[in-house]
Amino acid sequence: MKILSIDDSAIVRKIIRGAVEVLNYELLEASDGLEGLQVLHDHVEEISLILLDWNMPGLNGLEVLEKIKKEELYSHIPVMMVTTESEKENIVMAIKAGAIHYVVKPFTMEELIKKIMECLGRGEMDE
Ligand SMILES: [Mg+2]
Repeated sequence: MKILSIDDSAIVRKIIRGAVEVLNYELLEASDGLEGLQVLHDHVEEISLILLDWNMPGLNGLEVLEKIKKEELYSHIPVMMVTTESEKENIVMAIKAGAIHYVVKPFTMEELIKKIMECLGRGEMDE
């Protein structure tokens, strides 16, 4: 099973990759929202979780989230927002738009692993 990281920062994606590999998942990466939606389209059957950056050039995280939740083929896939402290107030908007969790940058790998496990556990319970 795979986890998709949509994040314009290669450094953040590298940290996410480390956490995802510890959990024995494979990471798919996209550096902006449109690329992320394309990867989602191509791999929808395999993706268990999406980690979605808030602040990206082009579509922002909320816009990408809204597109994911509007599309019947994707809307069941859990989304965790990846945000910074200053954008934390936006989390309420993201939760309302269908995100199930969030992680605030900078985060440790341990924290990220814990939150990914929480997301995946919740995904299983919903099935
Ligand atoms: Mg960013």
